[in-house]
Amino acid sequence: MSFASLGLKEPILRGVRAAGYDTPTDIQAQAIPKILAGVELIGLGQTGSGKTAAFGLPMLDKLCGGEPGLRGLIVVPTRELCVQVAENLRTYASHAGLHVCTAFGGVDMSIQESAFKRGLDVVVACPGRLIDHLERRNISLEKVQMVVLDEADRMLDMGFMPQIRRIFVRLPQERQNLLFSATMPKEVEGLVNDFLPNAERVQIGSRSQSAKTITHRFAAVNAHDKQSALERLLQRESGRVLIFVNKKIGCERLGNALKRVGLPADSIHGDKSAEARHACLQAFSRGKTRFLVATDVAARGIDVDDIELVVNFDFPLGLEDYVHRTGRTGRAGKTGRALSLVAPSEKRLFAAVQAHLQGREVTDAPKPPGRGYGMPKRREGGREGGREGGRGRRGPGGGGGGGRSRSRGSHAAAS
Ligand code: AMP
Repeated sequence: MSFASLGLKEPILRGVRAAGYDTPTDIQAQAIPKILAGVELIGLGQTGSGKTAAFGLPMLDKLCGGEPGLRGLIVVPTRELCVQVAENLRTYASHAGLHVCTAFGGVDMSIQESAFKRGLDVVVACPGRLIDHLERRNISLEKVQMVVLDEADRMLDMGFMPQIRRIFVRLPQERQNLLFSATMPKEVEGLVNDFLPNAERVQIGSRSQSAKTITHRFAAVNAHDKQSALERLLQRESGRVLIFVNKKIGCERLGNALKRVGLPADSIHGDKSAEARHACLQAFSRGKTRFLVATDVAARGIDVDDIELVVNFDFPLGLEDYVHRTGRTGRAGKTGRALSLVAPSEKRLFAAVQAHLQGREVTDAPKPPGRGYGMPKRREGGREGGREGGRGRRGPGGGGGGGRSRSRGSHAAAS
């Protein structure tokens, strides 16, 4: 199947060529003709499925050749995703004469306002900053024809529901709504019932499914040995590695600790400024920093195709997080590896993931030294810092990379 056969106009097809795409992905092949036909759509696609083009191309196609002005709105949860989606859309729009602007917090509003004045057909926005612009009348949603809620699950997870409602009341009645989400928890179903009750669903693979191109491995490591295990592992890695932790404070500490032992590492989390996060992502995508320690929310905006390995330093607190994290590798059909360091206290979470991956290529956790998993449970360390996203779930307390204890043996995590 070709992009031309999906019914896209020539200027948009030239944009697709500029992006270097030859063949539509599954979600693009299914979603694009429906969106062009005016159908309201819920796109459920796994991470890296090509959903940005699935909504971006038909949106630009519909706006191409029309009266200039803000007619397309894309709401995203994080600054990084905002920049990433806008960059993709600018490439797709490069031969269509359409202007794509961003609105995200942490940077001067006047810079964004000036960009709106130079030309604005599509805005990619984070909810809070969009509301700021609306209240200052820098922007009006009166002529918006198409709205996309991207990563709706993460948006609700981050507590953006009130802002989303405030945005929706400012939109015209006549519009096409699209919602994209990697997963479909109850909260997203509620949003769908309110705003897209008659929408069609396009599902690629089963819910919460991990990309088939990823090999999943698990290693049993006591919490206090994780850092030294990671250092040894990274010394053998020649490609890009994304390392996940559960808490912001642990993120910063682990990044600094890796730097101190001479590894080309950095960390990205929600307490860093927009500029610092942008610089961090640039260094990672250019290969200057090969090892990036990230929290779940910060990692959402990372769109680097050749991440060779994803490491769960802290085991994710839910299956959906596991799928999102490991989905950062093995993107766009490439192969990838995921390695999770599983402390005894994380065994229960590990079991849930293992059940999900059943029937897939999984290397069982090797037995830990000494009594390993047989140890009595305890919470290592306390709850450090806030978990981004305000999900309020209680973590296993893996310590988030703090301290450089080298204590070995099974009692390290059990006493
Ligand atoms: P997304 O799921 O939109 O974040 O896309 C994941 C990655 O796949 C991005 O790097 C896209 O540029 C890339 N991509 C999207 N669609 C295609 C396609 N049809 N062919 C090749 N790469 C694609």
